[in-house]
Amino acid sequence: MAGRIRDEDVALVRERSPIADVVGEYLQLRNAGGGSLKGLCPFHDEKSPSFNVTPARGLYYCFGCGEGGDVIRFIQQIEGLSFVESVESLAQQSGIRLRYEQGGGYTARNDQGQRQRLIEAHREAQRFYAEQLLSPAAKEGRRFLTERGFGRADAEHFGVGYAPAGWEALTGRLRDAGFSDQEIITAGLAGQGRRGAYDKFRNRLVWPVREVNGEIVGFGARKLDPDDDGPKYLNTPETPIFKKGHLLYGLDLAKREIARERRAVIVEGYTDVMACHLAGVPTAVATCGTSFGEDHLKVLRRMLLGRSNQGGEVVFTFDGDAAGRRAAVRAFAEEHGFASETFVAVQPDGLDPCELRQRHGDSSVRDLVADRKPLYEFMIRTVIEQYDLDTAEGRMAGLDAAADIVASIRNDGVRKLYGVNLDHWLGIMDESFVQRRVAQHVAARRRSGGAGSAPARPAPQAPPGAADAGPYDVRDPSLQRERQALKMAVQYPGLASEFDDLDAESFSVPQHRAVYELISARGGVRAAGDAREWVAGLCDTAPDEAQRAFVTRLAVEPMEVYGELDEHYAQEILGTIKIHSINRRVANLKSRLGRLDPSAQPDEYQRIFAELMSVEQQKRMMRER
Ligand code: ZN
Repeated sequence: MAGRIRDEDVALVRERSPIADVVGEYLQLRNAGGGSLKGLCPFHDEKSPSFNVTPARGLYYCFGCGEGGDVIRFIQQIEGLSFVESVESLAQQSGIRLRYEQGGGYTARNDQGQRQRLIEAHREAQRFYAEQLLSPAAKEGRRFLTERGFGRADAEHFGVGYAPAGWEALTGRLRDAGFSDQEIITAGLAGQGRRGAYDKFRNRLVWPVREVNGEIVGFGARKLDPDDDGPKYLNTPETPIFKKGHLLYGLDLAKREIARERRAVIVEGYTDVMACHLAGVPTAVATCGTSFGEDHLKVLRRMLLGRSNQGGEVVFTFDGDAAGRRAAVRAFAEEHGFASETFVAVQPDGLDPCELRQRHGDSSVRDLVADRKPLYEFMIRTVIEQYDLDTAEGRMAGLDAAADIVASIRNDGVRKLYGVNLDHWLGIMDESFVQRRVAQHVAARRRSGGAGSAPARPAPQAPPGAADAGPYDVRDPSLQRERQALKMAVQYPGLASEFDDLDAESFSVPQHRAVYELISARGGVRAAGDAREWVAGLCDTAPDEAQRAFVTRLAVEPMEVYGELDEHYAQEILGTIKIHSINRRVANLKSRLGRLDPSAQPDEYQRIFAELMSVEQQKRMMRER
C-alpha cells in the first residue's frame, strides 16, 4: 500500500502549482478586481460566473455551490482523484520527486496511485509509437501522412506514432519499463489473452488523446491495411482515465486560442484537427469516437467564457449531405439552450477539412470557418431551398415549412429577427404577413403543450396545383376566373378567340396550364370547329385519365355568368387573367431581385432588373388599352 507523502513535499507541490495556472487549464478565468479571478464553475451548471480564485491565498471558492479549497482539492474534485493521486499528478507536472513515509523512514517509491501509473504507461507508449513511426515497418503510415499533406514536423507536433504489427511490441516495451500486464490492460493499451496481455493497436497509425492539461490518457488508431481486422478507427476503450464523453482531441493545443477567439470549431477526425491547426484554424477539436454531447459542451463553455459573460461560438463542420448530424446538432443545441451560439460550416463538395487543405490550400480551410452560418439560418435556408421560390405558391409553401422552425426559437427578439430574415430569404416582401404566420405557429406550439413535445403545426394550406391535379381552393377568385376562361374555351371556343393570345404562364396552377397546352396542341380555339368534336379531340389529346376527366368536367360544368355570355364578357375575363399573370410575373421578379445580392451576382441582378422593366412596360400598355 502507498505510504503517506511527506508533508514538506505536499507543501512544495502547493507552492509550485499556482492555483490560477492549474484552474486555468480547465476553465477560462478573467480578472474580477481586488486581486481575484472569476470563471464559470466546473462543479455546477451556471450561466454567469460565481467561481472565484484568489491566487494570493492559493484558494478557490464558488459562491453558487459552495465548493472550494486549495489547488490539491481542486484536482481531487475535477479529476475525481484521491488526495494522494492529486498530489502525484501535480508533482508530476511541476517536476517534483515525491518521498513517502514508510516504516519510519522516507523513500521514493514506484507504487504510485493507479491514475499516475496509467498516465505514465501512456507517456511511455507514446514515446514508443513515435519512435516506431521512423522505422522501415511504418512506411505505409508515413505515406498516409504524406498523402494528406503532413510532414515529419507535423507528426511530431501532434505526437503521431505507429503501432507495429506484432502482438507484444508495445506490451514487451512496457513490461521492460516495469509495468505489470494488469496495468497495461487496465490502461486499455492491451487486451487480455490466454497467455497474458497482447497489444491492442497493431499496424495502425496512432494519435495520442490528451486531457486538457496535456496528459495522455488514450489513443485513436487508424487502420493502414484494409485487409486487417477491426474498424477503420479504433479508440481506447473506457478506462479509469479515458472518458470519451468529455474528451476532445486537440483541446490541449486549442484551448488558449478558443479562449482568445471565443470560438471552438468541431471537426470529425484527428487528421481534420491537424489540418485545421496547420491551416490557421487553431480552435479545431474533435470528439473521440462518440458524438458531441453534454459533457463536451460543458468543457467548451468553460473555455469560451472570456472577457465578458457572453457565450462564444461553437461551429460544427458538416459535409454537404450529413442531414442526420445536422438534425442531431439542432436538437442538441436547442435542448441545451445554446442554439443561438451555434454555427454551421458546410464543407464545399463534401470535402472534409483535411481534403480541403490538400486540394485547395490553407486558405480554403479558413474560408470554410469564415463562411459559417448561424444554426437557425442554416436550418431555415435548408428547408426553403426545397421550394421553388420563383412562384408565389412555392414561396407560400416555403413559408409554411420554415415558419415552424422560426416559431421554435424561444428568445422573442431572436425569433422576430428571423421572421424579418425569413421574409427576405423567401422574397415575399411583406414582413408583417410573415410575422403573423410565425405567430400562428408559435400559438399552435403553445396549444400543443409547449417546448418539449412535438409541435402541432397549423394545418398547412395545400399549395394550389399540386401535380396530381387534385382539388384546389375553388374559392380563390383568380382560380375561379381561370377556370371560367377554360370552360369558355372548351364550351364556346367561338367566343373566346383572344384565349390564344394568352400563354401557359398566364395560368397559376399546373392543371390549368395543362389544359391551355392541350388547347394549343389542337391549334388553339381558332382551330375549333364543331363543339362536340372539339371536346372529343381535346379528350383524345389528353395524356392521361386525370386530364381527360378534368377536360370533360370543364366541358359539362355550367358557366356562371351574371349577365350576358358574349364576346365582351370573354374579353373582360381574358384581359383580367392577362393582367393578373403580368402582376404575378412582376411579383416573382421583384421577389428574385430581393433575394439576389447585387454585389455578388451583378450580371444576374442586371438581367432580372431589365426583365422586370420590360414586364412593367407591358403592364402599362395593357392598362392603357
Ligand atoms: Zn459552483
